[in-house]
Amino acid sequence: TGVAALKAAAGGNPLLANLPNKLWIGGQWVDALSGRTFPVLDPRSGEEVFRVAEADKEDVELAVAAARKAFDEGEWPRMSGKQRGKVLTRIADLIEKYADELAAIESLDNGKPLVMSKIADIPLSADHFRYYAGWADKLHGKTIPCDNVFGKFFAYTLHEPIGVVGQIIPWNFPLLMLAWKVAPALATGNCIVLKPAEQTPLNALRFAQIAEEAGVPAGTINVVPGYGPTAGAAICKHPQVDKLAFTGSTEVGRIVMREAAERIVPVTLELGGKSPLIVDKNVDVDKAVEDCHFALFFNHGQCCAAGSRTYVHESIYDEFCEKAAARAAKRVVGDPFQEGTEQGPQIDEDQLRKILAYIDIGQREGATMLCGGKQKGTAGYFVEPTVFRDVTDTMKIAQEEIFGPVQCILKYSSTEEVIARANACEYGLASGIISNDVNFINSVSRGLKAGTVWVNCYNVYESAVPFGGYKTSGIGRDKGEYALENYTVTKAVYQSLESNQC
Ligand code: NAD
Repeated sequence: TGVAALKAAAGGNPLLANLPNKLWIGGQWVDALSGRTFPVLDPRSGEEVFRVAEADKEDVELAVAAARKAFDEGEWPRMSGKQRGKVLTRIADLIEKYADELAAIESLDNGKPLVMSKIADIPLSADHFRYYAGWADKLHGKTIPCDNVFGKFFAYTLHEPIGVVGQIIPWNFPLLMLAWKVAPALATGNCIVLKPAEQTPLNALRFAQIAEEAGVPAGTINVVPGYGPTAGAAICKHPQVDKLAFTGSTEVGRIVMREAAERIVPVTLELGGKSPLIVDKNVDVDKAVEDCHFALFFNHGQCCAAGSRTYVHESIYDEFCEKAAARAAKRVVGDPFQEGTEQGPQIDEDQLRKILAYIDIGQREGATMLCGGKQKGTAGYFVEPTVFRDVTDTMKIAQEEIFGPVQCILKYSSTEEVIARANACEYGLASGIISNDVNFINSVSRGLKAGTVWVNCYNVYESAVPFGGYKTSGIGRDKGEYALENYTVTKAVYQSLESNQC
C-alpha cells in the first residue's frame, strides 16, 4: 500500500517503479555482501513499505575503495571548476525536474506534509546545488609577498580538495541534509561515501540516480544505507577516509569526534539544540504566538534548530500562553498526503516513546500542560501538539532536546536576565527574538551564544548563510562560503623571485 500511495502521490511517475533498493558503490547498484536488507517503514502506519540493502563494514570498505580510486585516479578532482559547476547545476535542474516525485518519496519516508516537502525540502535542496555550482570555479587561493633574510619570494595558496569524505546524515530533512553535505564537497572536488539515516534512505538512493544522470563520474559519490553502529562506525574508523562530516545527535557526535581524533582527520559536527526564542514586551501577541508556533512545531518539532524554549515577557505571559495553547489545539495533525495537514507522524516508534516520556516528565516536574499530551490515534507515530506553561530553567523539558511537538513556555522579566538564562544551556545552535525595540534586538542578538539568531522570523534557511552551533551544538559551519573550508586543505607554495632555477 505504501508503494501504491507513493506512486499515486507522485502522479504515477514510472521512475518510482525503479526506485533502487541497493547500495550505490563505484557507479553500480550492488547488494550488501551479507545479503542482508532492512525495512523502511511508513510512519503513518508503521508498516513496511520497502526493504533496502543493509551496508556493513565490508560494504563500507568497498565504498571507500571506490571513492579512493575516484579521488586518486578519477576525473572529478581533476576537472575544471567550471565543469564541476556545470554538473552541479545539472543536479539542481534534475532535482527540480523530479520535484514532485522527490517530494512524495520524502513525505512517505519521513512523514512530513507533502506541501512542506514541495515548498521547502525539495526546492531548498535544488537551490543548494545551484548555489555551490557557482562556487566551483571560484576556489581561489591568495598570493602573499615575502621579503625576508633569505631573499625575495612570493607565496601562493592552493585550496585543494581533502580527498575521500565520509558523510553521515539524519532523518529529519533527508534530502536537504544530503544537499548541505554533498554540494560543497562536490563543488570543491572531493569524493564521497554517504550514509543516510536508517529511517530515511529512499531519497539518498534516488539522488544517486540523479547524480549519475547529471554526469557525476562513477565512484565520486557512494551511498551506503545502513545502521549507525555498523555502517556509520565503519566510515568513521576507516583509515582511507580523509574527513568526517556528521549531522545528528550530540551523543553520536561525540563518538564521531573521538574517531576523528584517533586518526587526526578534520571533522565537522552539526548536533542537537535547545534554542531559545525570546518574546519582548510590547509586541503584537497574536503574531508572536503564530511565529513561536511555527518556530517549534515546524517539521513536527523535529528540527535541531526548533525554538524549543519560548521565553515570554511577564507582562504578556498569561495572554501568550492561552493563545499559544489555542493555536496548538487547532493544529491539523493527520496524513501528510492529505491537503490541509500541518503535522504528520513522528519519524518512528523510538521518537514517539521518547516524546511521550518527556511529556510525562514535564507534568511530574510541575509544568502546566495546557493542551495535547497524548499519542494521536493508535496507528503510526502521531503526537498531539502539546503546550506547557510555568516551565522553569532547571526542568528537564527546558534543558534536553525533545525533538517533538512540545512547546515549553518560560516567563522572564528583564533583558539581562533572559540573556543569561537563554545561555545557561549546554546547546547553542539557534535562537530567535521577537521585538519592535532595536536596542533590545541588538543587545540580545549580541548576547546570545548561538550560531543563528532569527529576528522577527524563524526557520529561515538561505544557502548562502552559514549554519552551525556554539557549545555542544557542534563544530564548523554548513552552508555558504564558510562550508567550503570544511572540504578543502590549504597548500602554501613558495617561489623565489631571484633565481630562475627550480
Ligand atoms: P543519531 O545521532 O543517532 O543518528 C544520526 C546519524 O548518525 C544516522 O545516520 C545514524 O545512523 C548515525 N549513527 C548512529 N550511531 C552512529 C555511530 N556509532 N557511528 C556513526 N554513525 C552513527 O540521531 P537519531 O537517532 O536519528 O536521533 C536521536 C537524536 O538526535 C534526536 O532525538 C535529536 O535529539 C538528535 N537529532 C538531531 C538532528 C540535527 O539535525 N541536529 C537530526 C536528527 C536527530
